Amino acid sequence: MTFTSNTDSSVGCFGRLFKRRKAGTRPRAATSPSSLSSPSSSESKTEKFDKNQCFCPTCDFSFAEETAWWPSESKASLPPYESHFVQDNLSGAPYINHTLGILERKLRDLSMQLHEHPETQFQEKFAHDLLTSFMEDHGFKVSKQYLGLSTAWRAEYTHGKGGRVMGINSEMDALTGLGHACGHNLIAISGCGVAIALKAALEATNTPGKIILLGTPAEETGGGKIILLERGGYDEMDMCIMSHPGPGPSHSFDVGSTNAMQNIEIEYFGKSAHAGAAPWEGTNALDAAFLAYSSISVLRQQMKPGYRVHGVIQGKDWLPNVIPDYAKLKWIVRAPTHTELQVLAEKILNCFRAAALATSCEMTIKTDAPYYELNQNPALSKQFETVIKDQYRMETTCRGSTASTDFGNVCHRIPSLHPMYAIPTEPNGGNHTPAFARSAATEEAHEATMIVTNALALTAFRAMRDEAFFQEVIQSFNA
Ligand SMILES: [Zn+2]
Ligand SMILES: [Zn+2]
Repeated sequence: MTFTSNTDSSVGCFGRLFKRRKAGTRPRAATSPSSLSSPSSSESKTEKFDKNQCFCPTCDFSFAEETAWWPSESKASLPPYESHFVQDNLSGAPYINHTLGILERKLRDLSMQLHEHPETQFQEKFAHDLLTSFMEDHGFKVSKQYLGLSTAWRAEYTHGKGGRVMGINSEMDALTGLGHACGHNLIAISGCGVAIALKAALEATNTPGKIILLGTPAEETGGGKIILLERGGYDEMDMCIMSHPGPGPSHSFDVGSTNAMQNIEIEYFGKSAHAGAAPWEGTNALDAAFLAYSSISVLRQQMKPGYRVHGVIQGKDWLPNVIPDYAKLKWIVRAPTHTELQVLAEKILNCFRAAALATSCEMTIKTDAPYYELNQNPALSKQFETVIKDQYRMETTCRGSTASTDFGNVCHRIPSLHPMYAIPTEPNGGNHTPAFARSAATEEAHEATMIVTNALALTAFRAMRDEAFFQEVIQSFNA
């Protein structure tokens, strides 16, 4: 029995708090009827599935029941703009609004180029080159292939001396076979928009500070941000912000949490034998997989309602008259907080270990670094909500979603904000569906992205300009 870990998954690497967040109302993911049906014994069925896609962490970024989603056929115009901001240097609003107004069509063009060139984890070369070139053209100092990741990048801008360092993230990756079905083309342009608008506001108001925009690869699988975090990519930042689209009520935003998540990959190694002539000569790897599956199913009785454990079993050269000598299991464990996840994941690992022991199989365990739950900074969230209400008369809720994101790990290191925002969607067309890829290319989705970009830039500017507010951010992070 061996244990291997791709990356350090110990809790100790994030020596802060894991305070339990308030339980929110979490919408249940819609269950596909087809996933519940099974073929009759007389049916011959060939299963086809993309292995990577099956192992892809689900990103259900919806933050309301499906009946409340913003329907794609709705052409309802945005609420009227009613700025209640004092148009002075303290808000940065005139410069941020003006800059984003100029950039808006360019950002739309970038978004569509990314949408038409979807790239999966750590392959985001087109996005890397396109976005670094764009940021260079807007006066940022760019580091390509940042921290040893060939598609990660950093764009920075400094004004004056001292001040705060604001981090921003642009995700870029798409999904195998689905394209930009999680809307990361929108996240990418939002990060660029926030950074360039903030730069304009710092310059116009002579506010000292530094902006660091990171191009973060492999959010869907691979945990690109976690790698950058471990390699010091976030060390200089005082705070970090980004956004994510999902289904939700028309023109709405959410600053709730997400689930913590752990990937586990198990391999059982046995010995093949003739199943009829000499089965006692074999060591059955399929039996180990079966026992592990059954043990986990029994364990579900003691799991809390918010926990999720799900996985698949994959064989190799299996035949009914041969004792299987190999089985692979890919599982995902989720819980509302990282501390709960750690306890649950250990219980699941014990199910795998017990099955190996019972069947005399050898076993290997591989785990990715866990994704932590989002820990939205209260002061930044409140400011974002105020901006959204004052500028656009729109609502921000705190319901959370069942999704998981590697930005959760960043949130536990530095004060962070990750609003989810609604874009119009088709029925059953949430994140990770072909319909959501279509939604991510619409003008309405782009408009919503520009609003969240504007609100994030205004929130970030206050945190950089207003020392008392920044202290609130720090205090609420440490509370
Ligand atoms: Zn996703
Ligand atoms: Zn996503």
